[in-house]
Amino acid sequence: MSDCLFCRIAAGEINSRIVYEDQDILAFHDLNPQAPTHILIIPRRHMDRLSGAVQTDAELLGKLQLAAAKIAVSLGVEKAFRLVTNNGRAAGQSVDHLHYHLLAGRKLMWPPG
Ligand code: 5GP
Ligand code: ZN
Repeated sequence: MSDCLFCRIAAGEINSRIVYEDQDILAFHDLNPQAPTHILIIPRRHMDRLSGAVQTDAELLGKLQLAAAKIAVSLGVEKAFRLVTNNGRAAGQSVDHLHYHLLAGRKLMWPPG
């Protein structure tokens, strides 16, 4: 999707501070960090949001979580981090390309606002 911001980041058309990449996944620093560590983890393939996922996405969804765990280790935050996806506008989703936020480096409140 050429008009999708995260597809353009995945294609390298828009610069990002990449922390992890493989053939299926890209992870990069959020432009407007909400914690000392704030990483966005996306599938290279466009999907609007988690609620649109189907059975054939199961492997990719698993890889995204495993990548998150690996990234947490590589950034030294594996003991305390939060992995979250905002699914839909009312939940705070502003970019319609599935992404997980990996947040760490400060006390994280529960429940989130
Ligand atoms: P959402 O609000 O959809 O859950 O998360 C979108 C995230 O993308 C936000 O945290 C926002 O700061 C981040 N973001 C928006 N535009 C850009 C961009 O051009 N580059 C990067 N690295 N992050 C962005
Ligand atoms: Zn996209």
